[in-house]
Amino acid sequence: MDGQFRSWAEIDTGALCHNAGALAQASPPGVGLIAIVKAGAYGHGAGIVAPALAGRVAGYGVANLAEARELAALPHVGGVPILILSPVLPHERAGAVAGGFEVSVSTVAEAEAFAAAAAGGGRPARVHAVADTGMGRMGARPDEFAGLVGRIRDLARGGAIELAGVATHLPSADEEEAFTHRQIADFRDLVQALRLGPEVAVHLANSAGTLGYREEMDFVTHVRPGLALYGVSPLPAHRGALRPVLTWKTRLSLVRDLPTGATISYGRTRTLDRPSRVATLATGYADGFPRHLSGRGAEVLIGGSRCPVLGRVTMDQIVVDVTDVPGRPEAGEEAVLIGRQGGGTIAVDEMAEKAGTIVWEILTGIGPRVVRVAV
Ligand SMILES: *Cc1c(COP(=O)(O)O)cnc(C)c1O
Repeated sequence: MDGQFRSWAEIDTGALCHNAGALAQASPPGVGLIAIVKAGAYGHGAGIVAPALAGRVAGYGVANLAEARELAALPHVGGVPILILSPVLPHERAGAVAGGFEVSVSTVAEAEAFAAAAAGGGRPARVHAVADTGMGRMGARPDEFAGLVGRIRDLARGGAIELAGVATHLPSADEEEAFTHRQIADFRDLVQALRLGPEVAVHLANSAGTLGYREEMDFVTHVRPGLALYGVSPLPAHRGALRPVLTWKTRLSLVRDLPTGATISYGRTRTLDRPSRVATLATGYADGFPRHLSGRGAEVLIGGSRCPVLGRVTMDQIVVDVTDVPGRPEAGEEAVLIGRQGGGTIAVDEMAEKAGTIVWEILTGIGPRVVRVAV
């Protein structure tokens, strides 16, 4: 691979499988893992991640029909249920049913539309009834949830729909413990009142729910972690159990010596206060390196040393200070934007914090120009 790419992400499939194992260990025995691989497996590349997890997962979760179709076409993925997490658009319903994908429904009207979309097609719509227990994004309100499930059960007698699961989502499992305890208890009450058979999946836990609320998960059949699979824990206490999967690398495209007083990048926000050796790197905000990192103390690794980003991040390039790197870095050499190099580490958490955002946004923002490579 050396010499081939300008900007690339190395995906450590061994670390990915380790994390899947750690999440299985964190779950009650017998609980299945629905691997959340939406948004190109959180920027890691669904084409690498989903096949690498085959055999370890009971299902995959994606955001929409296009992602479900992309996943279903991958090797080794067939036969494992693919659940579409976001509401399916009206014009996508027939395709979702025909593709054999499982869908999330919030309303009786949606359930009826899915039954109608499946009628005569030879295969029932497999739906997960979602309860809104505090996320406010989708789902039936708690007082309407039993009615939604009841309507799905009625429609199921006609054979065009099946209740595949019941679910809710935790909005604050990494921020509000008391609320989350109460939310899990509320959902447990809702589920127990339904007297579900063993064929119906029950799930609510994202990464923070899976790692932090194990004792309360005795009534679930599945967990739905995303971020933790990729080796990043939303709960600091659990960081040690996980291994980061992604290393983002780029190359030095140019190394130059500039005098005191030279100005760097758009808006000339940075003036050198000493004679400096600067390197230009072949990654910019169009690749997903956040422009918000401009002037925020961001660093990259070159030769194992931390090198400050100078001035504003541009679309295709950034400029870094390599004056203090031992030896003379050369064009073509590797720089690490996220990950380890020599004794240095730049965690995605550090980048997110400096950019004023969350790790989910950094990872899913790594753009299509960045080549994903399995290692
Ligand atoms: C994205 C998503 C998850 C995974 O969340 P993480 O915090 O990344 O673990 C789980 N469930 C639903 C419904 C989601 O949309």
